[in-house]
Amino acid sequence: IFQLSLPLNFLGTIYREMRQNLLDMEVLYKLVEENTPAKDVAGAQPLALKGGNIRFENVAFAYHPDRPIFRNLSFTVPAGKKVAIVGPSGCGKSTVFRLLYRFYDSSSGRIFIDDQDITQVQQESLRRAIGVVPQDTPLFHADIMHNIRYGRLDATDQEVVEAARKANVHDTIAKLPEGYKTQVGERGLMISGGEKQRLAVARVMLKDPEILFFDEATSALDAHTESELMKNINNSLLDKARTSIFIAHRLRTVIESDLIIVLKEGEVVEQGTHEELMRERGLYCSMWQQQASLEGLEEDEAE
Ligand code: ATP
Repeated sequence: IFQLSLPLNFLGTIYREMRQNLLDMEVLYKLVEENTPAKDVAGAQPLALKGGNIRFENVAFAYHPDRPIFRNLSFTVPAGKKVAIVGPSGCGKSTVFRLLYRFYDSSSGRIFIDDQDITQVQQESLRRAIGVVPQDTPLFHADIMHNIRYGRLDATDQEVVEAARKANVHDTIAKLPEGYKTQVGERGLMISGGEKQRLAVARVMLKDPEILFFDEATSALDAHTESELMKNINNSLLDKARTSIFIAHRLRTVIESDLIIVLKEGEVVEQGTHEELMRERGLYCSMWQQQASLEGLEEDEAE
């Protein structure tokens, strides 16, 4: 039904955009997946959400057999809590999301949401439960209205505008010459990384998922834009108890988390609140000291 209702040229441009990067491919994959019967096991039931507790149990995974990313990864994200995953670049933070969303399946171990093994539930219901604000939001070559509506295809124009308001991007859109009809994406209007991420927040607001995944952009937003974005997320997406996982690169965005999970070489090496981890004087603490001195350097240079 969905494919028929989409203008064909919109689909065509999605295919073109798809070649741009892996993330676009994942989105396209999702688009296609959502419209083909999921590879569900016989007798799979829809995921029954009871708050959104997430548990990784002895998970092993490798993109290539000779290079394991996780050997034995276990952790729990309590229902309704805000949890940050931090760790050195390449330690597998984004892979956690890819496994949870079932872009890939683990080679051993299990992942549970509310005590249900995610490989045993209907994939469509799993993906409906999870919203993601990715690092680099893929925009389709279409107008802004379409791009936000992608979060929930049956949303009305009014609902799209409401979501944009809550994500604090409505005023920016309203100032554009063609407003919500402005074309973005490939060959479209260039918009900033911060605006893109706010469009992604609006998309996720429409989807209204039980579980939220936020992949912080590695490319530095300036400190002001970043704190604005975090404020928007806190006000709009965390207005109700929602299990949320933040993959964070800049540690100051994680201080308020209920729990911080520190990964290194595919394993949990520490976990706790900011205060607890600082007292432990382990990896988290040294990452802080490192970032603080880097930021100090940047400030010195700016002077
Ligand atoms: P960063 O902080 O730099 O974003 P990350 O902790 O999120 O990194 P991942 O993106 O999960 O790390 O990647 C973990 C490892 O797996 C990296 O070494 C990466 O190069 C590798 N990797 C990621 N995606 C693929 C893929 N599709 N195929 C092969 N290797 C991959």
